[in-house]
Amino acid sequence: MPAHASTAPSRRAFLTGKVARPEPEFRPPWTDEARVQAQCTGCNACVEACPQGIIEFDSRSRPRISFHGGECTFCGACAEACPQAVFDLAQPAPWPVTVEITSSCLNAAGIACQLCTDICDPRALRMDLSVRPVGAIQVDAGACTGCGACLSTCPNNAIALCDPRQQRTPA
Ligand code: SF4
Ligand code: SF4
Repeated sequence: MPAHASTAPSRRAFLTGKVARPEPEFRPPWTDEARVQAQCTGCNACVEACPQGIIEFDSRSRPRISFHGGECTFCGACAEACPQAVFDLAQPAPWPVTVEITSSCLNAAGIACQLCTDICDPRALRMDLSVRPVGAIQVDAGACTGCGACLSTCPNNAIALCDPRQQRTPA
């Protein structure tokens, strides 16, 4: 490649939509993408402060949640450790995150399972036995806190996070 050549995508590629935009990140509670991008300096304080070990850096040294078997207890340690104006503890709720049960749920295949309902402290998951033949898991989105505790209990990886903060505005 010539020394002056660029690896950056061409303007035409951008305009024709042939350049994949990066996937939105799942940011910590009490913040969102805009606040992270505007205020975070990548100091690592929130990563070190989380007693659950569920905050990690993305490829640009900005915090994101990765539950990998853990859950958020909403202790607020990340927000309190941050020396910048990234987090807003005055928000009415930590985040608008909930979960949904996908078509991979074993009940959808006729195999009875309700492991996830047992671990959910806010009782946001319940078995609806009126659904044939073995029932179906229903999510009470108003009760779900998005804590992530149920994710690792599912033997078929059928629980997905819904994070409205990640929805992109149309181009
Ligand atoms: S609120 Fe607590 S458990 Fe949740 S991400 Fe922040 S430090 Fe971790
Ligand atoms: S994310 Fe937490 S509150 Fe929501 S359904 Fe799962 S365990 Fe319950």
